[in-house]
Amino acid sequence: MSNTDCKILRYTELSEIDQKIKASGDCFFDKQLKLSHESDPRKKDLQFRQLQLKKLYYAVKDHEEELIDAMYEDFHRTKLESIANETTKLMNDILHLIEILPKIMKLRKVCDRSPPFMFGKTIVERISRGSVLIIAPFNFPVLLALSPLAAALAAGNTVILKPSESTPQTAITMENLLTTAGFPRGLIDVVQGGKDETTRLLDCGKFDMIFYTGSPRVGSIVAEKAGKSLTPCVLELGGKSPTFITENFKASNIKTAVKRIFCGAFGNSGQICVSPDYLLVHKSMYPKVLEECKSVLNEFYPDFSTETDFTRMIHKNAYENTMEKLNSTRGTKISPVKSSIGPDAASLHIVPPTVVYDIDWNDPLMKQENFAPVLPIIEYDNLDETINEILKKHDTPLVQYIFSDDQTEINRILTRLRSGGCVVGDTVVHVAISDAPFGGIGSSGYGNYGGLHGFNTFSHERIVFKQPYWNDFTLSMRYPPNNERKEKL
Ligand code: NAD
Repeated sequence: MSNTDCKILRYTELSEIDQKIKASGDCFFDKQLKLSHESDPRKKDLQFRQLQLKKLYYAVKDHEEELIDAMYEDFHRTKLESIANETTKLMNDILHLIEILPKIMKLRKVCDRSPPFMFGKTIVERISRGSVLIIAPFNFPVLLALSPLAAALAAGNTVILKPSESTPQTAITMENLLTTAGFPRGLIDVVQGGKDETTRLLDCGKFDMIFYTGSPRVGSIVAEKAGKSLTPCVLELGGKSPTFITENFKASNIKTAVKRIFCGAFGNSGQICVSPDYLLVHKSMYPKVLEECKSVLNEFYPDFSTETDFTRMIHKNAYENTMEKLNSTRGTKISPVKSSIGPDAASLHIVPPTVVYDIDWNDPLMKQENFAPVLPIIEYDNLDETINEILKKHDTPLVQYIFSDDQTEINRILTRLRSGGCVVGDTVVHVAISDAPFGGIGSSGYGNYGGLHGFNTFSHERIVFKQPYWNDFTLSMRYPPNNERKEKL
């Protein structure tokens, strides 16, 4: 999308971006300078950070309705979904950080009794990285922008936030709430725009850290640019996350499993980084799973033709891309019985929730992340061979979901298949657990955040070792000359 395509969002002028980068860097040094003049800088720092987090919390709370309305305008996400999956989770994340900050900012003592260190004092402190660039995606435009922002503030950084241009109303609302929340000048700045503006930010080489959430394709561009200036970088990417229903799963729980899988696969119109992207079902369970899929689809969406509560695909491209894959798949499709939306479907970017079965690994739906309300199902016979296929084609997913009642089998999958996270018996819910590390591995990214983990990611662990002078006799061995007399000692 270019400047002219987007009528609502005012993209930040390139010259203005340079000023914001400078203000962010200056503000960090100002802050450090001011704090170091205080009698107890660490205590002041804690109070300063908690105050900023409180401002952020109230800014979100006071503008919650506006944020929800903005997301509805951007992609028709219902109020309930936005409250449950976005604003409530965000406010919980911020409150949790405020609560744990005194504990996690504490200095850690290290004890080493060997002669060179036995009389000294070693502490480990966590220092801010400096100025951080956060680049956010569209699919949870508030949470995935402001939750990393909260972690970055908790760790004492200044932040430039680049929201997604695909959700322009939300991006403007976030900018407004951040500029009126009373943060010190230069602590948080928002840069609006798309590829050009983000490239300008990445090319300046002046950040101390980059935190990127989005597609693997853009992730590799970001990592390459970060590498040029040796800027540490966190990549929160997507990919194809598998779900298993194995042969050792209780048949009476299949309906519940299908409901939980559908929640993850069709929520937010499937535009969730941790969506179950495809389902692998053991042949003994396959007929029952298909039967339950048909039944649950109609139970969840009794009349999809009048369904007003279904989030839309973010833009025309995403809609057309999904329809093209659905038209070219060789599989059999199941949608809710009443699901003809009529001629408006394309202009509204609505794809009905669709299950596709009778397919193999070469189907168009099995090539890349679907990021749409589409769930391909592959029937399998041998678990190890199936895992081999995943390892060959879609290794290191962001998450894997397992529906099995056999712990040995669960362990077998977990041992062979590395992933960012794993849930047994449910889907997607793990992202809401405070203090659990959320992040990818390999192709799904690197680095993580969530409570303590976000604080650690946005800070640097520094050792401070203090050596006394009176104990030099214990250390004099290291002084030259390195002659024979020393060797005999
Ligand atoms: P995207 O990669 O298109 O955009 C993400 C951000 O990158 C946006 O702010 C955009 O302006 C910027 N951008 C786009 N092209 C760029 C370029 N050439 N150079 C520099 N910056 C550029 O991703 P999206 O469509 O907004 O989000 C969907 C993707 O994000 C999916 O792959 C999904 O799995 C992934 N995702 C991952 C997580 C996670 O936590 N792991 C969370 C949400 C989404």
